[in-house]
Amino acid sequence: MFAHPDDAETMAGGTLLKWAREGHAITLCLITDGDKGSNDPNDTRAAIVERRRAEQTRAAAKLGAEVITLGYEDGTLQPTLALRRDLVRVIRSVRPQVVVANDPTVWFRHGIYINHPDHRAAGQAVVEALYPAVKKASIFPELLAEGHQPHVVEDVWLGPTDEPDTFVDISAIFDDKIALICEHASQFPRAPTRAAFARIAREAGEPRGLAMAEAFRTLRLAANTIRALAGDGSDAG
Ligand SMILES: [Zn+2]
Repeated sequence: MFAHPDDAETMAGGTLLKWAREGHAITLCLITDGDKGSNDPNDTRAAIVERRRAEQTRAAAKLGAEVITLGYEDGTLQPTLALRRDLVRVIRSVRPQVVVANDPTVWFRHGIYINHPDHRAAGQAVVEALYPAVKKASIFPELLAEGHQPHVVEDVWLGPTDEPDTFVDISAIFDDKIALICEHASQFPRAPTRAAFARIAREAGEPRGLAMAEAFRTLRLAANTIRALAGDGSDAG
């Protein structure tokens, strides 16, 4: 569940490809259509949305994923209750085992970039949807009335992150990740994209002795809940 088209592929494309090839169903939920993703003043919002939806459709087809778009405006995203409710509706409807999202605590990247505020807002909204609203029927009762039963997500994978604890080896699948990212052709020209993401993957893999990796901060929500129910601390998930 991400702010923009291309966020899933850039942050977790290798991991998602691996999961898809293992037979897991993937659904991409995109909160905005990336409608500010153009520097051409003659580009209309409608034209940008159409282009980016087409790119996302091609990338999702390559991944074998379904796409859900929520249509929020790019660039000014806020973690509102309305967004939280929309995310809870999607999670209760798709009923995923794992949710992948942005780490809402990350302000800066690689010592030179400011993390896009939409990424923090999206990450915060997803985390706040997961606990407690997704699994508590009395929160957003209108969703229950729509037929969306509570659900327990087992694991949450957050990235990019300054506190990685899970490293996925993407060395063998790196070329396919780049092909996935480059379906977003309006945003990612092939040559510089390959070089930039190779560097990121090498840096992520280094601490764990992997040639190329994607790094995540993970929360084992279901395991935490089971532990809490057994009397080992409060309900953490
Ligand atoms: Zn983004």
